[in-house]
Amino acid sequence: MLSLRVGAKVWTEDRNLAWVAAEVTDVVGKQVHLLTSTGNKVSASPEKLLPRDADEEEEHGGVDDMTKLTYLNEPGVLYNLERRYALNDIYTYTGSILIAVNPFTKLPHLYNVHMMEQYKGAPFGELSPHVFAVADASYRAMMSERRSQSILVSGESGAGKTETTKLIMQYLTYVGGRAAGDDRTVEQQVLESNPLLEAFGNARTVRNDNSSRFGKFVEIQFDSNGRISGAAIRTYLLERSRVVQITDPERNYHCFYQLCASGRKDAERYNLDHPSHFHYLNQSKTYELDGVSNAEEYLRTRRAMDVVGISHEDQEAIFRTLAAILHLGNVEFSSGKEHDSSCIRDKKSNFHMQMASDLLMCDVNLLVAILCTRTIQTREGLIIKALDCNAAVASRDALAKTIYAKLFDWLVEKINRSVGQDLTSQIQIGVLDIYGFECFKNNSFEQFCINFANEKLQQHFNEHVFKMEQEEYRKEEINWSYIEFIDNQDVLDLIEKKPIGIVALLDEACMFPRSTHETFSMKLFQHFRSHPRLEKAKFSETDFTLSHYAGKVTYQTDTFLEKNRDYVVVEHCSLLSSSKCAFVAGLYSSAPEESSRSSYKFSSVATRFKQQLQALMETLNSTEPHYIRCVKPNSLNRPQKFENQSILHQLRCGGVLEAVRISLAGYPTRRTYSEFVDRFGILTPEYLDGRFFRL
Ligand code: ADP
Ligand code: MG
Repeated sequence: MLSLRVGAKVWTEDRNLAWVAAEVTDVVGKQVHLLTSTGNKVSASPEKLLPRDADEEEEHGGVDDMTKLTYLNEPGVLYNLERRYALNDIYTYTGSILIAVNPFTKLPHLYNVHMMEQYKGAPFGELSPHVFAVADASYRAMMSERRSQSILVSGESGAGKTETTKLIMQYLTYVGGRAAGDDRTVEQQVLESNPLLEAFGNARTVRNDNSSRFGKFVEIQFDSNGRISGAAIRTYLLERSRVVQITDPERNYHCFYQLCASGRKDAERYNLDHPSHFHYLNQSKTYELDGVSNAEEYLRTRRAMDVVGISHEDQEAIFRTLAAILHLGNVEFSSGKEHDSSCIRDKKSNFHMQMASDLLMCDVNLLVAILCTRTIQTREGLIIKALDCNAAVASRDALAKTIYAKLFDWLVEKINRSVGQDLTSQIQIGVLDIYGFECFKNNSFEQFCINFANEKLQQHFNEHVFKMEQEEYRKEEINWSYIEFIDNQDVLDLIEKKPIGIVALLDEACMFPRSTHETFSMKLFQHFRSHPRLEKAKFSETDFTLSHYAGKVTYQTDTFLEKNRDYVVVEHCSLLSSSKCAFVAGLYSSAPEESSRSSYKFSSVATRFKQQLQALMETLNSTEPHYIRCVKPNSLNRPQKFENQSILHQLRCGGVLEAVRISLAGYPTRRTYSEFVDRFGILTPEYLDGRFFRL
């Protein structure tokens, strides 16, 4: 295919840029000599080179759909994105997938009412690529086919998923809203649910000042006239550990800082002052966010609560509960009189303990008791075991985490109840904003769950892209049966299959008090000794490496067991469900039934997540999907900086290159029949009668 005469335009690999444009200057034996666009003379073997579009002139700004590239290959895709990004054309299609490169600067001209009006009803692909075009296409498809749609937004942290999701919701509420003057509360509530969930579920991380620490699926329900009639929000896997543990320069959830900045309204009433006085906040010295006022955000959260329909009484209880969590975090312990026991450390801790119990409206002595002791049921009856300082701290943190997680669930449920479900709705558009594939230097249980979710979504994506491909070939009456389709079912089986898969083995380990991460890893390696997707990591006895669709990830198992155990401590439940505050008691109303052997009842985080994913996939499978892949162009969150290597990695993780590969498995270059006749008809003049000219 690749012609290697002198002067041929090619792509060659480059250590820094991933790919660099080059021109052939000479061919000597099996080596091709090249001059790169960066001015270097290099040589490469022919099979390492890829063809480059010769027609593309520097001055034109790239193509708005990758499939229009003459050579649909990795460097071509990358270079096209780069050229468009330079012009702030942040959106590009790859067939029906929308790629969105985060501009890291406000582009107000892209998102105003005028733009929404432009895209309303415009045929897909006619206007420049845009998130509104995808939203509009789903809305039109829903109306014309009477079929539910879903829009799946993915990408790594900071890539722009949540912003994209909000734009989609903004567009859908625009086209599906009632005429002005009518009751617009449902739309408003749907939109205001965003700042509210962000206050409680988002936090500053190294990657993103406003990083969502949970996955979210928002289902917008429409009536038969295409008007919004209800909405439902489902959330996934809120990061609980953040409530009690943060590292500089990250922050805890926004709501805590908002509360501390609320001044006379709340902070003073609850004996709160600057966040630096609270252990759960001062583990990191970052208290403020650039360009954000905690006090103003507090008022915004309150307003959102009003719109969503949370009563003032409940609002008061929510912030009071947050204050209680902060005070609880300041309770310290010292060794008690007896061996391995603990007690409240000093007057200061006593004060915070009293504050916490006052705010939670429960008995302070009982609260002390549940933190410093544990009740164990034995065959002889109940025995009370003292906890040492470390265990007491762990118990305190566990309590703080579960209160917070329950509060978050309560909010989601409240939003769902007050926005209201339209149970008669037959047509919905679901928007999924979920963490993308993650591969860090250290990967733990969270990354395992996140990547598991991404494998699931990838499978769904592959099936869809493949189906679309077949559809196109069928339309053009081309034989497509030779396309080989590789899927990732084997990794999914490895992770989730019962009775033996990683999740099942982990649950089993969690149920046996004596197992450790060592015994868990040992079992894992025993069962999957020769599995092509699983390896034991090189320099560790317990780390394992999974070959995901997006590459290999090594997981450290040290904290797997502890993170998978979601103990519901019966004492915590019984204390808080007896709170004099109806709100607090309500959080704990669904107390677990007493377990016979221990007051700690094991519930598996991974298994619950697996079930949630299963339900999500069932929902998605009943809809027509649309994909948006968000790309983070650089790690500095700065505009106009395009880092090739990392972008390529993201395109790979997001399955964009996989989609390209599937396309390549068919025909690398696409021309419609008419375009083809137009361009090459001249070669066969005998066919060039009027019939073809008219095409
Ligand atoms: P993610 O949800 O993928 O972690 P966000 O949606 O929170 O990422 O985006 C991170 C930041 O990037 C936002 O706070 C915003 O500053 C910027 N950003 C993302 N998308 C856009 C956009 N379309 N226009 C302008 N800025 C954006
Ligand atoms: Mg987000």
